Amino acid sequence: MASANAHKAIEIAEILAGHDIQPRPHDLGDIVENEKTLEGNARLKAVAVCNQTGSPAVADDTGLEVDALGGLPGVRSARFAGESATDVENLSKLLDEMRKVPDGDRTARFRTVALVVFPDGHEILAHGVVEGTITSSPSGSGGFGYDSIFVPDEGKGLTFAEMEPEAKNIISHRGRAFRSLAKMLED
Ligand code: IMP
Repeated sequence: MASANAHKAIEIAEILAGHDIQPRPHDLGDIVENEKTLEGNARLKAVAVCNQTGSPAVADDTGLEVDALGGLPGVRSARFAGESATDVENLSKLLDEMRKVPDGDRTARFRTVALVVFPDGHEILAHGVVEGTITSSPSGSGGFGYDSIFVPDEGKGLTFAEMEPEAKNIISHRGRAFRSLAKMLED
């Protein structure tokens, strides 16, 4: 697994249960995610881990696409407020840029690309999307990233940060992408 994020690693290992998932190698250096697409960044990470380990490698990349901002932050979601920005800084910048956007125009979606790269160079790739809206202030203490300002259309009006992790996983971008990937691996 290419992910160093503990939240995500647990989630992904649960969905891919039945496969022998090993954590990201400790001696693998930082991977600069400088591609222009989610797919490009996911591939960059998977290829780096595959080359280092000689085993198939699984990686993902996620972006939050806000319609009122022309799809931003998108592939730049992790670095929206600067190269080493924290989750809180990214989220604050997003709310700030959207302060004049009326309720009806605050539509957005999380999009995940998940892929496995095999040592022979071939790959399988899956997508997951969840539609929702951006709130005007954070609510809830669960989750991470932009969870406290994203209300999924299928979530009874709660933000992801107000939902139980299991409830989030059922409808989330990452849950959908990795369940689809798991099905492709079985096939
Ligand atoms: P990554 O591709 O998973 O590293 O995520 C890119 C950016 O999206 C980071 O700023 C994450 O905090 C954010 N992000 C990824 N997944 C989620 C999620 O499930 N909820 C909220 N924010 C997320």
